[in-house]
Order: sequence, then structure tokens, then C-alpha cells
Amino acid sequence: MELTDKEIAERLVQTRNRLPQGVQLVAVSKTHPASAVLAAYKAGQRLFGENKVQEMTLKHNELPSDIEWHFIGHVQKNKIKLMAPYVSVIQGIDDFEALAEVDRQAARYGRTIKCLLQIHVAQEESKFGFTPQGVMDMLADGRWKDLSHVQIAGVMGMATNTDNEAQVISEFDTLVSLFHRIKDSYFAGCSGFGIISAGMSDDHELAIRAGSNMVRIGSAIFGARDYSL
Ligand SMILES: *Cc1c(COP(=O)(O)O)cnc(C)c1O
Repeated sequence: MELTDKEIAERLVQTRNRLPQGVQLVAVSKTHPASAVLAAYKAGQRLFGENKVQEMTLKHNELPSDIEWHFIGHVQKNKIKLMAPYVSVIQGIDDFEALAEVDRQAARYGRTIKCLLQIHVAQEESKFGFTPQGVMDMLADGRWKDLSHVQIAGVMGMATNTDNEAQVISEFDTLVSLFHRIKDSYFAGCSGFGIISAGMSDDHELAIRAGSNMVRIGSAIFGARDYSL
């Protein structure tokens, strides 16, 4: 059952008030109706995350235009053109071809789209992302430097869904050290490369302690998701 607008607003404010300064909140609204997004919007939230392009586009079309939409799912290349006119950040870039397609589509609209490189740090096979070696190889290859309509703005990662805190901490540590390695090697002194997107409802405190500066929180704000709808 969907939470009421008042409950959503309260949970949003509680979540936001617990975040340290400098940590951005992406409210993950996937599966929830546009009315739920609007309730959070009215409580001051502007960054929202979705993992299905069509669903995000429908919400984009009907909701206020100053919302920043973050695409947080696996990027299917044939769907990039649908979000290219408006998406703010694409968080799930996991190969060079996706980056090149974002560049092509962004160019058609005269835009530059921020992209985060998704790194596979979890021990679960189902999670997408570059391996740490794979992302370093992609960057060393250098072709990304010719893409003038994408801005590589940081990294994104998901930890294993486990109660083993030590494991979760170590996975977030891996992501954060890789961020610094990439920054030192390719983006030193470049303020545009600065985002470490890590942490969800259940593990964002550990992620923040490890150095995350962007959390993606869904169920703690909007309640449980019903995928059967
Ligand atoms: C769904 C999702 C989230 C939010 O998960 P919650 O556990 O509901 O906070 C965060 N990141 C990604 C990539 C997601 O798909």
C-alpha cells in the first residue's frame, strides 16, 4: 500500500536531516506513482532516481520541470535517446559503448550529460558494472576524451545485500579508493569529477562513513515497493 503524502514528506525530511552536510540525497521513486514524487517535491526534494527509462520519462512529462532526474539502472543503449532530452545524471554507465551512445544522443539536443561509472564491487553476480580493472582499462584507452557531450562526473556502486557489515564496508572502501585513483590519474584538479554515489536505505550510513557523497534512498522514504503492479 502506498504511504500518504504526509507520511512521505515526514520520512523524506527525517532522512534528509540525518545526512551530513555535503551528502546529496537522490530519492528513488521507482514503482511509486507521480503523486508520491510530488509529495516529496513539495517537501523540498528535487533529485529523484528511477531505473526504467519509460517510467522515468512518463513522470518527467507530468511533473515539475525543475526536478533533476537521475537514471540509476542498467543502461540499455536503445533507450538512451528517450531520456537524452532531459536526464540530469546517468548513474549506470558500465561500458564504453554506453558512454559513446550518451554522447551521440546528448549532441542531438546540444546538451552535456553527466555520467557516473558504475563499478562492480559486490560479490553478487547479478549486479552490473565495470570491474576495477575494466574501468581503468577503459580510461587508459582514452577514446572517452573525444566525447564532448558527456561529463564523467564520478562513480557509482552497490554493496552486497548482506548483514555482514565488514563485507559491506570493505566493498564501499574499494569503490572510494577507486574513485580517488581515477581522480588522481585522469581528473586531478577537475571539480567536475566529484561524485561518489553509494548507499541505499539499509546501508547508506556505512557508505557515508566510507566516503560516499551521494546516497540513493527509496524504501526509507516511499515505503516498500510492489513490483506486481
Ligand atoms: C532501488 C535502488 C535503490 C534504492 O533502494 P532502497 O533499498 O529502496 O533504498 C538505490 N540504488 C539503485 C541502483 C536501485 O536500483
